[in-house]
Amino acid sequence: MKIPLNTLPGTELAAWLKSVGQPAYRSTQIFDWTYRKFADSPDEMKNLPADLKAELVKSFIFRQGRETRQEKAADGTNKLLLEFTDGACVECVIIPSVERFTFCLSSQIGCPVGCFFCASGTGGLVRNLDASEILDEFFVCCRKLGQLPDNIVFMGTGEPLMNYSNFMSALNIICGEKQVGMSPRRITVSTSGFVPGIMKFAKEGKPWNLAVSLHSPTDEGRARLIPDKHRYSIKEISDACRFYFNETGRIVTIEYTLVKGLNDSRDDALKLADIVSSCSAKVNLIPLNAVEKSGFSRPDRSKIAEFESTLTGKGVPVTVRIEKGDNINAACGQLRISHLKEDAQKNPGSENQEPGNL
Ligand code: SF4
Repeated sequence: MKIPLNTLPGTELAAWLKSVGQPAYRSTQIFDWTYRKFADSPDEMKNLPADLKAELVKSFIFRQGRETRQEKAADGTNKLLLEFTDGACVECVIIPSVERFTFCLSSQIGCPVGCFFCASGTGGLVRNLDASEILDEFFVCCRKLGQLPDNIVFMGTGEPLMNYSNFMSALNIICGEKQVGMSPRRITVSTSGFVPGIMKFAKEGKPWNLAVSLHSPTDEGRARLIPDKHRYSIKEISDACRFYFNETGRIVTIEYTLVKGLNDSRDDALKLADIVSSCSAKVNLIPLNAVEKSGFSRPDRSKIAEFESTLTGKGVPVTVRIEKGDNINAACGQLRISHLKEDAQKNPGSENQEPGNL
């Protein structure tokens, strides 16, 4: 059975090379093509002999995720839809800013958390991505861009800490010195507040950035945005954030999606300031990117500014996320969902291929 090359440990590649009668130094060349030159197939590995290329084709999978759709916004944001061999799709986004590129990657197909305001959550979890598929997203984006990104955020579809071992395998390859070699400080992992995952992640002992989606400063308010099943109390989440800060020395970012009339009052801002200060964190305000038929909407600009200044007045570091990709399906999950809808229209019944989708 063929196995993915992009997750193969160096020792196993060395053993495989020996088994096909090839010298050990070829492993450096193969990894260089795979991790540094983002090769899609052995055909591109110019310095390998033809017999080795043929053996590689027989034994390994080179890319499982294929780009099926691309949407480019006027500001340069490039959203890609990848389709895997089972027909499941996932989104990844290349986001440009001044002299920097950020990739926003997904960790699951669908999402088990099911936040009521989120496009990805509307269909539940379809399946986990394996490590190789997460890496496929990364390498497809690298190929598209022609270089490594400056930053990666795992803020696409899914709760990465609920797909822990696959996600960590991919992360360790992206940060592995003998593999891709990106600094952990350039990578941000976003969680919906999955406390057991935060605790485990803290104990990895690497300076990855952690972003925790709080969305409301009260447990009652969170209950209106996040279903019971995977929701932890604010006390448990702030304790976990403090633990993460103490273990890693990294300041946690509290992500706060501002929803009109639901969590955008001055009282909400004051309560949020107390929580954030208690765990030495900072805040990233995200004006809601409304999902069709969700019933939620974005506060107007003056309300957003007022919320921000209440936080800064209490000494809390705050950023407001700048909208990117305005003219495309920019909220997480929207490109995949519009693809599924089109597919269902073309092939009635095909929507049943994925449990619970629209
Ligand atoms: S906001 Fe994040 S955690 Fe919540 S449903 Fe969407 S992808 Fe999942």
